[in-house]
Amino acid sequence: MKILIVNAGSSSLKYQLIDMEREVTMAKGLVERIGIPGGRLKQTRGEHKYELDMHMPDHIEACKQMLQALVHEEHGVLNSMDEIGAVGHRVVHGGEHFTASSLIDEDCLKAIEQNSSFAPLHNPANLMGIRATQMVMKDTPMVAVFDTSFHQSMPPKSFLYGMPMEYYTDLKVRRYGFHGTSHRYVSERAARMLGRDAKDLKIITCHLGNGSSLCAVDGGKSVDTSMGLTPLEGVLMGTRSGNVDPASLQYIMNHLHLDINQMMDVLNKKSGLLGVSGLSSDMRDVEEAAAQGHQRAQIALNLLHNGIKKYIGAYTAVMGGVDAIVFTAGIGENSAELRERVLSNMEYLGVKLDKEKNQVRGKERDVAAADSKVRILVIPTNEELVIARDTLALVQGSK
Ligand code: ADP
Repeated sequence: MKILIVNAGSSSLKYQLIDMEREVTMAKGLVERIGIPGGRLKQTRGEHKYELDMHMPDHIEACKQMLQALVHEEHGVLNSMDEIGAVGHRVVHGGEHFTASSLIDEDCLKAIEQNSSFAPLHNPANLMGIRATQMVMKDTPMVAVFDTSFHQSMPPKSFLYGMPMEYYTDLKVRRYGFHGTSHRYVSERAARMLGRDAKDLKIITCHLGNGSSLCAVDGGKSVDTSMGLTPLEGVLMGTRSGNVDPASLQYIMNHLHLDINQMMDVLNKKSGLLGVSGLSSDMRDVEEAAAQGHQRAQIALNLLHNGIKKYIGAYTAVMGGVDAIVFTAGIGENSAELRERVLSNMEYLGVKLDKEKNQVRGKERDVAAADSKVRILVIPTNEELVIARDTLALVQGSK
């Protein structure tokens, strides 16, 4: 079966068509600037590139253009859109309602809508994408795959905050966690690479990209993760602060006369690598500047490395040990320097990096020293494949 993966944002739509017989990507694309001037579709089929400039007033038009590009005589990969057996949608917030991926029906759509208050930027956009594809692909079964559902296995001691219990019972304020498809994929791959059953392994997965989160995966299940009710909690990120003392906000807001929306904007968009370095949210820029002696860039990197190290220590303690530490996503897969700095002085925990093997980018590799008790793995993530596999399983199961 051929499965289309859709990741809809408020003004963009990313897609990928996967042939599930061989689990290979046939084409992938991006529709940008939906609803604003300068609309554009970009699609790649291997090395072959196709671009189309065209105004897309809404997500429905964007979906139509996506399908036309996929069946395009010269640039496409399909003869007819009927060849698409199912669509898998990435949805950011599944709240407590979704402990796994779900076939999309009216109840599912309602539940996604109800969770919109937790992810006001993402869930409504994801819903627009779902509704638009439903309009243009009326009889094609669709599945929602959530960033949060892998973490629904966390126990209360990990997901509750130390606030009045009514905030949880009445308002559902709790840690949900994100990047679930990625943490799930790389932890399963790690078990494969080690030739072991995931049930017997304690793994710490570090998804480090523009947004970053760590996860403690014990016996194949998420038992703790660093992001919270929203993706702001946890380690320092590209533009997000990660953890701060909540009381510092009152002090800053009083002194700078900021309201809560302005303060949240600073924490989400002007902090992290960007705010500390004063240079860029992009790790490559910050690493380059730090290497040339830029002090604030060096401080930003130290904050990030130290923050990740602390989570690794904490999760090792929580699980009572660790068998493997996995690095994934843009930074985790590519920055040998970050891996080396984060894992320095951890021999006492049985963590010993092989600095030569560590010189790898974007490839699966065990980069631990031969005598390291804990394996250290670089594993490129593949969230689309997880979405496609879940979609296939649900669609086949429903027949
Ligand atoms: P997103 O969270 O948007 O999916 P990615 O997983 O693509 O992001 O990660 C983007 C981050 O990865 C950026 O900070 C980028 O600088 C970083 N990155 C990409 N390549 C490298 C590299 N060679 N060395 C260090 N960082 C890198």
